[in-house]
Amino acid sequence: MSDCIFCKIAAGEIPCRKLYEDDEILAFHDAVPQAPVHFLVIPRGHIRNIMETGGPGGAALLGRLLYKAQELAVEQGCGERGARFVINCKSDGGQTVDHLHVHVLGGRPLGWPPG
Ligand code: AMP
Ligand code: ZN
Repeated sequence: MSDCIFCKIAAGEIPCRKLYEDDEILAFHDAVPQAPVHFLVIPRGHIRNIMETGGPGGAALLGRLLYKAQELAVEQGCGERGARFVINCKSDGGQTVDHLHVHVLGGRPLGWPPG
């Protein structure tokens, strides 16, 4: 989608600190990190949020996003103490960028419940 910031990152039109990419997904460090480890895993294709993954291949794509998220979390040093895997969805979920993304946060203890 032409005015989507994450589509532009996926297309290489906006720079990012890339952690991983393949033909289907991309991972990069969050620009405003909320923890020592904070990166995002996104599909290359423009899917607005997790509730729009209902089409063909949606379950496999979600599986791939989460699987890569945990693999990269281990690579980033969170294997022993763990991390948080978050998908914000729409306004009540606190989503600000309308392109599906998995947050991975780690490197410090995180509070619960969220405010
Ligand atoms: P959410 O509020 O769940 O939609 O999260 C959007 C996330 O995208 C926030 O944590 C932002 O800091 C992050 N973000 C926005 N623009 C960029 C960018 N250009 N590069 C990396 N992260 C970004
Ligand atoms: Zn997009």
